[in-house]
Amino acid sequence: MRTVYVNGEYLPENEAKVSIFDRAFLMADGVYEVTSVLQGKLIDFAGHARRLERSLRELDMDRPDAFDDLLEIHRELVRRNGIEEGLVYLQITRGAAPDRDFAFPDPEEVKPTLVLFTQSKPGLADSPMARTGIKVISIADERWGRRDIKTVQLLYPSMGKMMAKKAGCDDAWMIEDGYVTEGTSNNAYIIKGNRIITRGLSNDILHGITRAAVLRYAREAQMEVEERNFTIDEAKAADEAFVTSASTFVMPVVEIDGVAIGDGTPGPHATRLREIYLEESLKEAV
Ligand code: PMP
Repeated sequence: MRTVYVNGEYLPENEAKVSIFDRAFLMADGVYEVTSVLQGKLIDFAGHARRLERSLRELDMDRPDAFDDLLEIHRELVRRNGIEEGLVYLQITRGAAPDRDFAFPDPEEVKPTLVLFTQSKPGLADSPMARTGIKVISIADERWGRRDIKTVQLLYPSMGKMMAKKAGCDDAWMIEDGYVTEGTSNNAYIIKGNRIITRGLSNDILHGITRAAVLRYAREAQMEVEERNFTIDEAKAADEAFVTSASTFVMPVVEIDGVAIGDGTPGPHATRLREIYLEESLKEAV
């Protein structure tokens, strides 16, 4: 049985409890982060901690008292659960107010809820999926407008994932005003020649921690990076496509809406970027 962390305590998962009045349960009033673990170490912890702090600030939510101990708590959970490859999920909510009310509770009276748990995922780095690539469909982006804040309101992305599954695919790329925003839980890229094209940062997409690292490594490897909008038709005509996220790293996309990308197998640039990402991010893992 897993050991999880809830508000200062390490507990067996079946003893961990959160109030039914918790605002994340009632209003999706919570933010989260997912940090991957490779060789028992945390990948880009500092980046995730920075984004978490930003998400809290944007929602006017207090940092939990244990905020400065988050690295230690992550490490302790990885150690106690013997995680070699997998991830640590962290969630902070605005806490449990005495009654359901749209207005935020007084932060002096209601303290944030802090929950962390691990998921073991052997084969995360040497993933069979990365060797075949994934298939995506395009769907309308019907999420709210502040996708730069990593909130737990994941119903539409979850529905998108189900639409993809129903179509015999792995994921969905979302489209707004004619342009691809991102995948249901990842950032989206296409490659033309030696050039990587991905949507620029704004409130329309999550500012991926993996995205930042991959674009840095790509520039260091003399690839060109163009941050701009692209259409699904441009994507279908690209040489390669891929997605990035903390739990999939760099994942090649080999089909969009039934159209093969390139020759329909993972492209050389995406494959190389995955290798570089795994190698370089492990060097800085903590
Ligand atoms: N976009 C969305 C909508 C996501 O949910 C995620 C993963 N949480 C990402 C992008 C990728 O972000 P990261 O690289 O920080 O995992």
